[in-house]
Parts: sequence; C-alpha cells; structure tokens
Amino acid sequence: MTVYLDANASEPLRPAAFEAMARAAFLSGNPSSIHAEGQAARRVLEDARHVLAEAFGTEADGVIFTSGGTEANALALHAFRRQRMAMGATEHDAIRTPARRHAQVTALSVTPEGTLDIDALGAFLDSGDAALVCVMAANNETGVLHPIREIAARCRSAGAWLHVDAVQAAGRVPVTLDTLGADSLAISGHKFGGPKGAGALLTRAATVDPLIQGGGQERGRRGGTPPLPAIAGMAAALREALAEDGGQQRVWRDRIEAAAREVGARVAGADAPRLGQTSALVLDGVAAQTQLIALDLAGYAVSAGAACSSGKVAFSHVLDAMGYGVAAGHAIRVSLPWNVEESDVEGFIAAYRAMALRLGGAGRRA
Ligand code: PLP
Repeated sequence: MTVYLDANASEPLRPAAFEAMARAAFLSGNPSSIHAEGQAARRVLEDARHVLAEAFGTEADGVIFTSGGTEANALALHAFRRQRMAMGATEHDAIRTPARRHAQVTALSVTPEGTLDIDALGAFLDSGDAALVCVMAANNETGVLHPIREIAARCRSAGAWLHVDAVQAAGRVPVTLDTLGADSLAISGHKFGGPKGAGALLTRAATVDPLIQGGGQERGRRGGTPPLPAIAGMAAALREALAEDGGQQRVWRDRIEAAAREVGARVAGADAPRLGQTSALVLDGVAAQTQLIALDLAGYAVSAGAACSSGKVAFSHVLDAMGYGVAAGHAIRVSLPWNVEESDVEGFIAAYRAMALRLGGAGRRA
C-alpha cells in the first residue's frame, strides 16, 4: 500500500469531516428555501459560517463560501482587475494566473530563503497608485512563512489592500485577519482535512465584486446553491485541525531533513520560519521526475512542487525565484498529513536514502 506524504496537494479526509458531510448530504432542503427543510439546511450553513468567522477573526458576513482556494483568490483579485497590483514571486498559480489579467503586475522578489524581499515591496508601494498586494502566508512547495505582519503594516500606510493566500497556512499555523493585519484571506477545506470543493474568502469589507452572479446567495457576492455537505465537512475539519499543535509532525519533519542531508540533499528555505510538516528536498543533478518515480515504486507518494492539472512535473518557479537555478528541477516536496505515523516516516527515510545513494551525487561519490 502506498504511504501518502503529499498533504500540501490535499490532506486525507478527516473522519469527523466525513460524518458532518454525510449528515448534511441527507438534508433535502435548499438553504434559500423558506420551509422547515430549507431552514434546517440554512442552520448547517450558518453554523459552518460561524466556525470560519471565529477561526479567522471576522464577522459571519465576512465569510464568502467558494468552491476552494482558487476561486477565493480569483474573487479577491477580481475587484482590482483594472488597477496596479504586486505579488510575491513565489505565489501559487491561483494568484499568478488571474494576476496576468491585471493592467500592471509587479512580481516582488524573494530572499534566497524564500521570504518576501521587503525592500522590493517598499519600492512598489513608493511608486504610487498601488491598489493591491498579494502575498501567501505559507508557500506550498517549501512551507516558508512570509512576514505578513510587516508586509501588512507597509501596505496599510501606503493605502494598498493586502490579500493573503492562506490556503497552506490555515489550520496549520494561527492565521486571522487581525493577527496578520490582512484585508482578505483565501482558504481551502481540502488542505486541512475537509473535502475537496469548498473554500472561502474571508474579509471585513462588505464590498466584493462577484465573479459568479445568480440567485443572490452569499449576499449577492457568490451566486449558486452552496455545496452544503462540502461546507459542513470543511467546518468540521477546521475545528479538528485547530485543536492540533503539529509538534509531532515537526519532530518527524526534522528527522527526514537530517537523514536527507546525510545523503547529500539540501533543504530549501531551511533557515526561514516554516510550516512544521513541509520539506523541499533538493538532490542536485537528479531530475525531480526521476526521484518521484523511484519513490513511487518504493511505495511513497510525494510530489515535485505544485500539483498541476496536466500531471506533468514542472520546473519549480518557487525554487527558481530563490536562486536555485537548474536545481529548481531537482527538488521534491514531502508534506506530512495530519494522520502520518512514525513507521511511515521511518519507511520514507529508508526509501529516500536508497534512492539518493543510487541516483544522487553522494551515491556517485561513494
Ligand atoms: N493557493 C495555494 C498556496 C495552494 O497550495 C493551492 C492548492 O494547491 C491553491 C491556492 C488552490 O486551492 P484549491 O485546490 O482549493 O483550488
């Protein structure tokens, strides 16, 4: 059986989320209907909304349910589509792709450790008319955490809106609108053990320019009957994720990194503040795809950076922006899921060691 170590692509579904989904799935009513069945469905929807509002530090009407992180980011950007914006060079394609439709987009450089270059942000903000800045809370490939509070303070004094893609951070490290100082946050349920198909844009401002218009759901900000089972599952997963501290995962993550270094790997962003369950391991000279195939054959599911729809292994724009050059094609990402066990970690270490000694520089030297 395959051991799944690709949590940043999608976390395994939590049983509590599944139970909440099953309960919601049997509610026949549409939350917009007046009758008792409709109102029962509405209660589940509003309970979930309160869980998210409380978790991310906003009021209930600051929660706009979406189909996931991609849509939440696109919705945030949509309101600024004719204005100047900047984004970190290591953002996910869920920001980079809609950003291309903006009149003027500046990609802000990052340090070799992967954190946003604050001087680059300052230069952008000083150049005038800065409407929007997008910086992710945690990077999906390296786990590196950006200094969002500092970024927020800069944006606030320049009058620019700060949108934070918190898809990888939510449920793993504390993120609220207040503690980050952000104007909006995007989150996605399947990244913390909920089902695929639900996410949210969290904001305090009432005005959002809708991407999808229709029956006036979500106060006219996102049309369409909400996917109640997915939303109920997301809220149940979030409750559980927030009760965990991730300490054990961090210990195991460190063990993996120490073992990988022994066989010649480098750890991208190692000296930056990072998520405790993500490692980007660079094995110089060995194509990411070769590593993935070897590990897959050994029974370990990991990935090379972002999961893209074509299933192809793409060159990592994240490691490229961090200055890795050709080695940006030689990295794999290990991201430990909420239900990882010590035997999974030990098994992975043995498989990685064998793979690196066979294919890597350390092996060639031996
Ligand atoms: N933002 C980041 C940082 C991500 O890692 C992902 C998914 O990998 C997304 C956005 C997109 O989220 P979703 O899959 O819910 O659309």
